[in-house]
Amino acid sequence: MSAEEVLLSRAKELGAVSAGIIEARRPNGLDRFYRWLDDGCNADMTYLSARREAYADANAVLPGVRSMVVLAMPQEMESLAKSAFPSLEDETGEASGAVRGRIAFYAVSEDYHSRIRRTLKQLAQTHRELFPNGKCRGVVDTAPILEKDAALTAGLGYIGKNTLLQCGDWGSRVNLAILLSTEVLKPTPGQGGRFTSCGECRKCIDACPTGALSESGLDARRCLSYWLIEHRGPIPDDIASRVGNRVFGCDVCQDVCPHNRPVKPVYINIKDIPEMTEDEFQTRFGNTPVSRCGLEGLKRNAEIILKGVQKRL
Ligand code: SF4
Ligand code: SF4
Repeated sequence: MSAEEVLLSRAKELGAVSAGIIEARRPNGLDRFYRWLDDGCNADMTYLSARREAYADANAVLPGVRSMVVLAMPQEMESLAKSAFPSLEDETGEASGAVRGRIAFYAVSEDYHSRIRRTLKQLAQTHRELFPNGKCRGVVDTAPILEKDAALTAGLGYIGKNTLLQCGDWGSRVNLAILLSTEVLKPTPGQGGRFTSCGECRKCIDACPTGALSESGLDARRCLSYWLIEHRGPIPDDIASRVGNRVFGCDVCQDVCPHNRPVKPVYINIKDIPEMTEDEFQTRFGNTPVSRCGLEGLKRNAEIILKGVQKRL
């Protein structure tokens, strides 16, 4: 087997549902990204605009980088998270006395950053065995790299009008990760990808509760996922009035997509949140993606839902 085949088959052994190799060069979608920033669509996610130049060249992440191995990892609910997200239903399937707040599907598990970093470490070990003098570095989510763009170029799938990468049977319910390498690896066939598999469909655009999506992409200034997870401080009334029962993240534009299999929604009892202490928050959610919004953010989100419930009474 060639080194490329060894790396890709190891990625699959480690759980990737799809994997490919691309040359490390200026991303195809870079100008699109710059327009998005210039239009202010990143809201106050300054970690994107502050590293604007770094996105052009992955040398900023791994000096001497020549290639990238791109992985799509499935989002799966794991037993570890059961204590954080106990079932709110009795045996009749009804919630009893609870006020339910929905958690985005990707967050109902161990934090994917920790889980995928372990995978990337194992893949890095294979890289070391193949190239003892080579260097590599695994990244997931936080480095200045356009991961969907890399996955599209690697031929892992398509980008839908919900702006997410759709990957075979898994649809958009995958997380993306990359192993950067200083070695020259042969890119996988299928480079270039197609941009969309949506055709005339526009279900996600029409279903988005806040109008954050359009044919030209996503405006984070209107996206509930941004407000409920990333934003610090109060949420404006016109957005808060559309939160519904979502307490962390938003899945609407994935749930309506015909490329995705339906998933069972997972809720927590919002009544537990206002009195929660930092210790309780860390014990329950510290190792899940919910930790991203912090206890203060979770309380803010829960209060929006509770206010909505009171208004309806
Ligand atoms: S995550 Fe929710 S608010 Fe954001 S674009 Fe999708 S449907 Fe709209
Ligand atoms: S809902 Fe329709 S338009 Fe939106 S991503 Fe899925 S297929 Fe594309």
